[in-house]
Amino acid sequence: MRLSQYFLPLLRENPAEAQIVSHRLMLRAGMIRQSSAGIYSWLPLGLRVLKRVEQIVREEQDRSGAQEILMPTIQPAELWRESGRYDDYGKEMLRIRDRHDREMLYGPTNEEQVTEIVRAAIQSYRDLPKNLYHIQWKFRDEVRPRFGVMRGREFLMKDAYSFDLDMAGAKHSYNKMFVAYLRTFARMGLKAIPMRAETGPIGGELSHEFIVLAETGESGVFCDKAWLARDILGQDVEYDSDLEPMYAEWTRHYAATEDVHDPAKCPVAEADLVNARGIEVGQVFNFGTKYSKPMGAVVSLADGGNVPLEMGSYGIGVSRLVGALIEANHDDNGIIWPASVAPFHVGLINIRAADAKCVAAADELYGKLRAGGVMVLYDDRDESPGAKFATMDLIGLPWQLIVGPRGVAAGTLEVKNRRTGERQDLPVEAALNRIAAP
Ligand code: ATP
Ligand code: MG
Repeated sequence: MRLSQYFLPLLRENPAEAQIVSHRLMLRAGMIRQSSAGIYSWLPLGLRVLKRVEQIVREEQDRSGAQEILMPTIQPAELWRESGRYDDYGKEMLRIRDRHDREMLYGPTNEEQVTEIVRAAIQSYRDLPKNLYHIQWKFRDEVRPRFGVMRGREFLMKDAYSFDLDMAGAKHSYNKMFVAYLRTFARMGLKAIPMRAETGPIGGELSHEFIVLAETGESGVFCDKAWLARDILGQDVEYDSDLEPMYAEWTRHYAATEDVHDPAKCPVAEADLVNARGIEVGQVFNFGTKYSKPMGAVVSLADGGNVPLEMGSYGIGVSRLVGALIEANHDDNGIIWPASVAPFHVGLINIRAADAKCVAAADELYGKLRAGGVMVLYDDRDESPGAKFATMDLIGLPWQLIVGPRGVAAGTLEVKNRRTGERQDLPVEAALNRIAAP
């Protein structure tokens, strides 16, 4: 993409309404535009990141054996009356009436909708287990939408729902999602710590929130300081094997949100306990038969009886992750994208748009990069070198390739790594190899 043609509405000044760095940088880098409180349009640069985040989430869900579906954003109120949540949900739910005066709602989550689908299609224990997920916009009329896409009213979520015959099966499904989440966030270069979390009014269930530590996080958290040194690796996994040992390994160190943390019962010595802020990027939840029972989602057993399905739900805040990624990856000059989610892999800068030799060299390089399948944003504008460098640093592409008259004469390029700031003059082929390295 040529920057001269790209829709990238950058802001020079820090927008006054943005209180945290990710919101500020997303607005300044032209990634999003607010439509109304907590509701945003995604502009080309922002959408590219959102799609890449979504794709990593999708690949790891698929790898774990979950199957993608797409449920609607608008749901009928009757479904929520069946589970008893229609009245309970309160003002966060956006309620709508259609032309026939039927009560509808914009889905804040999909437990009822997916239970209805499964109850209609699955009758026998032989059809289990199943895990269905979708990546769909949600609406929650949050009391205080803030921090840009981190706490929006309309936001993109991946939500998966598992259906099992018994608790042992449900725990295996839970473990699969637990491990898939470790892999998902690790692939984005994020350290998301699984923390014991509040399970709501019905006790005895199992839940973890995956939390990225950040000063601007809305959740108070406590964890063993051993977590800070731990590398949450995206190691390969055999999902059909027993995942209990892996689950045990990754819950070995203490980590809990402040809702469930009890100082009197905390197993970690005070000197080893970290009290920090964090961003919830995902949650895994086992809730047994909470929906299947009232909604009559049952399967028949071999001996003729029938039982309600054991269920779990598993959310990831896809749009929130874009903000969380920036909170975890930035400096004073702007964003620093991890390569796995970057909107483009490399920014190509011609510092002399008026110099024919430089233009020819940069154009040739642009062609080469595109032919090699490299995602490149080419700053071909007639701007000062300083303005071009500032733009590239702001939008945070992992690599910059800088073409200037001295390099063109010598047959070299300047390669800059955005994260380390390291710069090197290299011959063209060596430069291309350098940016291909992980
Ligand atoms: P929170 O405690 O932050 O309000 P939640 O626990 O109500 O979130 P879940 O129902 O667990 O949210 O939704 C799954 C994921 O969706 C969350 O882990 C979070 O990453 C994301 N999410 C929830 N609410 C929002 C929101 N208002 N804006 C953006 N993302 C959100
Ligand atoms: Mg949650």
